[in-house]
Parts: sequence; C-alpha cells; structure tokens
Amino acid sequence: MDDTGPAFVLVCVGSGGGPLESNLSGYLLKPYNAGWEAGIVALEAGSGQGTLNRLLEQEPDLFRTQSSASRTYSASEIYTFVRCFLITHAHLDHVSSLVLSTGSSAGPRKRVYANKETLENLEGMYNWRIWPNLASYDENDEDFKLLYSPLTPNGKYHSVFPDTSVQIVPINHGTTDLGPYSSSAFFIRSDSHPSKREFLFFGDVEPDSITSSTPKIINVWRKAAPMIPNTLSTIFIECSWPSGRPDDMLHGHLTPEHLRDELIALATEVYHFRRSNSSSSSRPQRKRQKRNALSADELRGLLTGVRVYIIHCKDQSASVDGPSTRELIAGQVRSLVEAAELGAEILSADQGMYITI
Ligand SMILES: [Zn+2]
Ligand SMILES: [Zn+2]
Repeated sequence: MDDTGPAFVLVCVGSGGGPLESNLSGYLLKPYNAGWEAGIVALEAGSGQGTLNRLLEQEPDLFRTQSSASRTYSASEIYTFVRCFLITHAHLDHVSSLVLSTGSSAGPRKRVYANKETLENLEGMYNWRIWPNLASYDENDEDFKLLYSPLTPNGKYHSVFPDTSVQIVPINHGTTDLGPYSSSAFFIRSDSHPSKREFLFFGDVEPDSITSSTPKIINVWRKAAPMIPNTLSTIFIECSWPSGRPDDMLHGHLTPEHLRDELIALATEVYHFRRSNSSSSSRPQRKRQKRNALSADELRGLLTGVRVYIIHCKDQSASVDGPSTRELIAGQVRSLVEAAELGAEILSADQGMYITI
C-alpha cells in the first residue's frame, strides 16, 4: 500500500455464508474522510439492522470516528444513512435484510445497484406475494422506497455515491436447473483519493477450473493485475468450504485449494503485466492466450502487499472447543498460499470488524 492514507472504511455487519441468519453477508462502506452521517454504501444486505443492534450492544463505539467523536449511533440511525445498496446476486443470504427492511426504510429513496439478472430476481420478491412491491425502475416514483439501478458490465466505472465509482464484472456461481447462475465482482474505487485507490469485492463464485468452457474469474484478474499492489491492495473473496470437499459438492463456491489456484492465476497475470511493461519491445499483448504455468521461482512474492480477506465461510456444526469454521478455512488458505510463496497476506473478515482500505 502506498503512503497516501486510507480511502475507505468498511464495517463488517456479517460475513458468513449461512446457515446462521445472524451472520450473513453485509458490509457498510463509507469514504475514509467523511462521517457515517454523510452517507453509507451497503455492500450486500444479508444481515442488517437486527444483527447490527446486537453488535452495537457489544461494541457501542463501532461507528465512532474523528468526525463524530462525541457521538455514538444506533443501528436504525446507521441504516438511515444508507444511500444505496450494492448487491452481487439475489440469493437470500445476500438480500434478506434489504427485503425485510424496505417497508420501514427511512430517509431518501435508496438505489439498488446490481446486474440486470439480480434486479429481475429481486422483482420476483417485490411481487406482492413474497413481499409488497416497494421498488421500481422509474426515477419519478417517489412512493417506491427503492430505485432499481442496473449496472452494466461494460468495462467502465459508474458513479454510485459521491467520490465512489464501481465497475461490475460478471462471474459464475454454479449451474442451476434454469442454467448458469451469474454473480458479480465489484471494483470499488475512490475518485477523490490521491492514488484513486480501489478494492475488489467478490460475490459467491465458482472456480474457473470447473467452468472451464466459460471462465470468468480470469477477466477479473486481468483487470486487477496492472493495479497490484499500489492502487489495489485489498481483495475480499469467498471460501465457503474447508479443504477436501469434492468438486461435485461445491454448489458454485470455492475451497482453499481452488482459492490458492485462483490466486496463482492472479499472480500469473501480475507477472505477465510487469514483464510486458518492463520489456522494451512494444509487441501487442495477445489477449486470451493460455498462460503457461509459472515456476515456483517466478511466482515468489508476486502478490506481496496484497491483503486477501476470506469471506462467506459456511458455518458447519463444529465442536464447542475447536476452531470456528472460519478460522479453520482461513488457516488452510494461509498454509497453501504460504507454501506457494505468493506473498499475499491471508486474513479473515470477521463480524464486527472495522477495516480501513
Ligand atoms: Zn451466499
Ligand atoms: Zn449465492
């Protein structure tokens, strides 16, 4: 990371992948230099206000910042500061608190940013049967609490909030009886930060090795590689399952071995970007070419300076004394990434964490 200071603060309301409804994907994001009351981006909305109530009982100062030094906030106050939601896909563990809280949502109308399919899936919930229809696509429907705001995967950044832009990239999240299920990765950029810092946030994702006919994570890595580590040094990515789970039981998710392989794919892109940039020849890069595997020596340290936060671990019934599933999975990923000497720091994004980026 460079020395121009943080760009964002992210509070982890929940980071699990089920089944505990008290710890589902839900993150609150704001520019580092602004107060919470100046506006919040809700990144995923599985767990929400109820969970935050409980977290604030344990840690009342979670949202105390320099700009609000004498002030603590209630969970409901914090959610009135939310200006928009940014949703990777419409599975319930990512949208349940969004849906439940819509009727009582206070403050100005909120935008829901997501890809077209996700918004269509949400329409299937706001259909008067599962939930009242409280959302529309029309900017002038002030009576509707939510404004559906499609994000198009066109390689461009869209402003979603003052000083904050997002680029959406489609990724695979398994195959259903209806066909492939799409999720999203977000590049989230601070437009006001001196080095335009950004971070990368993955929704649920299947390894490219399983969907080898239509690999998608590689598209994310190709965009990320030129920015690593100075502009982009923080990645949130799921690892739902512990080591050893067979590929036919992944249901569109990663294991530690698959995540290690994906990080090697990122490191490989970093290697080729740096090499093509340092070579004097200006021969154009052949896109889509299959990369040869790099040697251990070539891979060493390519992801130095990168923090990888593991999210979306699925809680398994574990014994009371042993490590939590989350600790177990993060430890397994860490051992594998250390063995490959990539240099990335492997962390776990835990509920209640206050992360600066
Ligand atoms: Zn999920
Ligand atoms: Zn999902």
